[in-house]
Amino acid sequence: MSGSLRGQHAVVTGAARGIGAAIARTLAAEGAMLTLLGRRRDALERLATELPGSHGIVVADIGEAEQVAAAFEQARAQRGPVAILVNNAGQAESAPFGKTSLELWNRMLTVNLTGSFLCAQAALPDMLAAGYGRIVNIASTAGQRGYAYVAAYSAAKHGVIGLTRSLALEVARKGITVNAVCPGYTETDILQDSIANVVTKTGRSEEEARAAFAASNPQQRIVQPEQVADAVRWLCGDSASAVTGQAISVSCGEVM
Ligand code: NAP
Repeated sequence: MSGSLRGQHAVVTGAARGIGAAIARTLAAEGAMLTLLGRRRDALERLATELPGSHGIVVADIGEAEQVAAAFEQARAQRGPVAILVNNAGQAESAPFGKTSLELWNRMLTVNLTGSFLCAQAALPDMLAAGYGRIVNIASTAGQRGYAYVAAYSAAKHGVIGLTRSLALEVARKGITVNAVCPGYTETDILQDSIANVVTKTGRSEEEARAAFAASNPQQRIVQPEQVADAVRWLCGDSASAVTGQAISVSCGEVM
């Protein structure tokens, strides 16, 4: 690693595990000063102790406007203006459309879309003042194409890509880039839960269910969290300054 992000304050949401933890490890290895944001302090503290450098922790539910505002105030007070925001926190619940309750619909939109909006709005004033910033939204291939049984999640992730493109235009001449990274099925708890769901609902073995997820892409592989993190690292660096408003698929060729 080159230390290319040395001294830059990066907020990573949903940093405690999965893709968020991989992003935190990768940005910390590049010298960024991190604020790890999530709902469970103990899990965030465990991660912070294993990262190189000294990093802050803020506890917030990204779907709650007041908690997000307080979290960014705290982050700013601890580590200065925010230069990088990675909107990673998210949840994926599935249900046939007819059984998608309004509660499930609202939950998916709140955590996956409104949460990204609230965090971007909280971080943006620092970036505008500095004339520099990087916002990376972790969307999904479900933001680039449809999938059965996840209409609410897919609608929210399509929304994240719309938010990315529109905000990118608004800040294009202010030194700020806004991009989305769209993972395919990635080896984390979310995938583990989806596999368990298929096993319960279809009676397939875990191995068969996993193979079915891998078969959805041309490389017939499951994406690794570090592969998503590496795309985020690139987007956060100087060499990606000409890249904005993009939805980059890290999906073994599933979307092209
Ligand atoms: P994960 O392992 O389930 O981790 C999700 C993280 O988000 C956890 O750290 C969780 O923290 C946090 N989180 C959830 N709800 C939150 C809330 N309301 N406020 C604050 N933090 C919250 O999931 P993952 O697979 O790493 O997913 C990360 C991102 O990638 C998500 O946006 C997901 O949609 C996207 N993605 C994942 C896949 C995949 O196959 N894994 C594919 C495409 C896109 P706590 O629960 O500890 O609070």
